[in-house]
Amino acid sequence: MQVIETVAEFRAARAGLGDLGLVPTMGYLHEGHLSLVARARAECATVAVSIFVNPTQFGPNEDLARYPRDLPRDLGLLEAAGVDLVFAPPPAEVYPPGFDTVVEVRGVTDVLEGAVRPGHFAGVATVVAKLFSVVQPTRAYFGQKDAQQSVVIKKLVRDLNLPVEVVIAPTVREADGLALSSRNSYLTREQRAAAPQIHRALSAAKARFEAGERNAEALRDAMRAVIAAQPLMSLDYVSVADADTLRELAVVETRALASMAVRLGTTRLIDNLVLGA
Ligand code: AMP
Repeated sequence: MQVIETVAEFRAARAGLGDLGLVPTMGYLHEGHLSLVARARAECATVAVSIFVNPTQFGPNEDLARYPRDLPRDLGLLEAAGVDLVFAPPPAEVYPPGFDTVVEVRGVTDVLEGAVRPGHFAGVATVVAKLFSVVQPTRAYFGQKDAQQSVVIKKLVRDLNLPVEVVIAPTVREADGLALSSRNSYLTREQRAAAPQIHRALSAAKARFEAGERNAEALRDAMRAVIAAQPLMSLDYVSVADADTLRELAVVETRALASMAVRLGTTRLIDNLVLGA
């Protein structure tokens, strides 16, 4: 496994390789990330993983400074997973002095995470466009856990005709339903015990949907009620939206995304389930 920090060295290592799968990450890897790596390993001749805590996708009052990092551990996990190339650039390699370009995907970024975290998806789209340019992946692997991010990346690729196949892989969860996330490491023991309430709330909506409920507000209310029952948790937003446009629905007639963001103390967690999948 080659660990590369500069664009020039990565381009040199990539030259001459054919089919390549890229898994972009911010590191502090868990089984969710490793499921994407395993999928890429199964589908691509060469597997590359990027590890970059992208400063431009964090708001001024967000957790950039305290975001968990453990590069030696990450590299051990990636080596064991059979990864060929790791791109782990320092921030100045990605954003050198004078960098002044922003890739902005409109529409689908106005709502949900985009409404609460202004500038977040411009940061994501810019760094992903840059990673695609440097790495030149045949396929790029993203998680359903970050559902809106997946929609944004698919739109970026379609709108700019980027020659990349975007693969979205299912959310990996703990046995109690909590979606794996690097941010779970922020949780106290008490908050961790409360955290599966998010998946319970989403599952309540999915059960109501599967029992025939099509009124989106009734599904949102079902989720609100489950979250309200957990005093440590407060709701940022709850949504039942069209899975492709992310517009809020009145009636669920197409494939829909039930999603939410909650706060547990100072930690913000997101999760979702697809209705009608
Ligand atoms: P991150 O390091 O949080 O930026 O995540 C890197 C990639 O892993 C993104 O495509 C995420 O959607 C994906 N990912 C994060 N958590 C999970 C999970 N629990 N299951 C599947 N994919 C995940």
